[in-house]
Amino acid sequence: DFPDLTALTAAQAKAELTRLADLIGRYNTAYYAEDAPEVSDAEYDALRKRYDALLALHPDAEPADSAARAVGAAPDSAFGKHRHLVPMLSLDNVFDQAEFEAFISRATRFLGLSEADAGKLAFVAEPKIDGLSISLTYENGVFVRGTTRGDGTEGEDVTANLRTLKDLPERLHGPVPELIEIRGEVFLSKEHFLALNAAQEELGRKPFANPRNAAAGSLRQLDARVTARRPLSLFAYAMGFCSEKLTLSHWDYLEQLKTWGFPVNPLSVRLEAASGAEAFFETVSQKRATLAYDIDGVVYKIDNLTLQERLGFAGRAPRWAVAWKFPAEQAVTTLKAIEIQV
Ligand code: NAD
Repeated sequence: DFPDLTALTAAQAKAELTRLADLIGRYNTAYYAEDAPEVSDAEYDALRKRYDALLALHPDAEPADSAARAVGAAPDSAFGKHRHLVPMLSLDNVFDQAEFEAFISRATRFLGLSEADAGKLAFVAEPKIDGLSISLTYENGVFVRGTTRGDGTEGEDVTANLRTLKDLPERLHGPVPELIEIRGEVFLSKEHFLALNAAQEELGRKPFANPRNAAAGSLRQLDARVTARRPLSLFAYAMGFCSEKLTLSHWDYLEQLKTWGFPVNPLSVRLEAASGAEAFFETVSQKRATLAYDIDGVVYKIDNLTLQERLGFAGRAPRWAVAWKFPAEQAVTTLKAIEIQV
């Protein structure tokens, strides 16, 4: 992909990796800490790809404390800090069928599966919502704390802000373990994003670059009354810490989330085998423009939680899941005008 990289000497490679890591660090700060990206996601992803390709050629030349290894950004000191009981990491990306198959091969090789067993590996496929991830803590079924991902280890306490979301259950239905962390995505619909930006512009404020940044900017407010005026939505999609073992599959876990009262994306499906991934990706791609909210790909997760545990994590991402991203494009949407008060 990057023929120019093979010509670099070790010293040049080190200098280039340092330059790329510094740029990634700067863009991370703008995106995660300031909710105001300096470059497009496609540009940022290309930079990361270049970094990874060069690092694969020169594995010893990685700069110390490389920003490319970091998850998100450190919590803003304006908020209370909270340490996640289970870290909140990122996802590796793939952009085509060949890269997706390479992900499957890596996982099945790691598990030592025969080709026949690998072919029967079930997945859950979920639209990748373009919002910001949050962690919700419930004690005996009662919502006690909500945090942003932050740097993956510590997040910002945005409990009061999250309480303003109509989708967030204050109290869960039915039997619930003593202590659980639920992970999900907070997002702003496309129409509310446009309305919010129109209102921002009217007030002479800078518009948000995309619904993701608008959602993050709306949730990460010091005054929860501002968040309350932004119609944020929520989909729950994963478990962080749980004081009991509940299910053996991710799919059953999604069902459990629904029973408790969380909104779960209705487009999520269970695939009997990885061979169904491409068709689902095409289906979701075709629906994308008509969805009320922005998505930037499809997340594929190995359904069996025991296998997830065996696979574990490599660096900043799980080995048992991957995000198959859409190619860069301008979203095509038809929206009706609505008004929003900032
Ligand atoms: P990611 O978006 O690559 O993947 C992980 C995230 O996916 C999770 O944290 C979660 O928030 C989200 N997600 C949505 N639906 C999900 C589902 N169903 N299951 C699990 N997770 C789901 O994460 P990342 O590490 O935050 O960042 C990389 C992304 O952010 C890239 O797309 C990149 O382009 C963008 N980014 C852009 C800039 C920029 O300057 N433009 C800077 C930093 C990051």
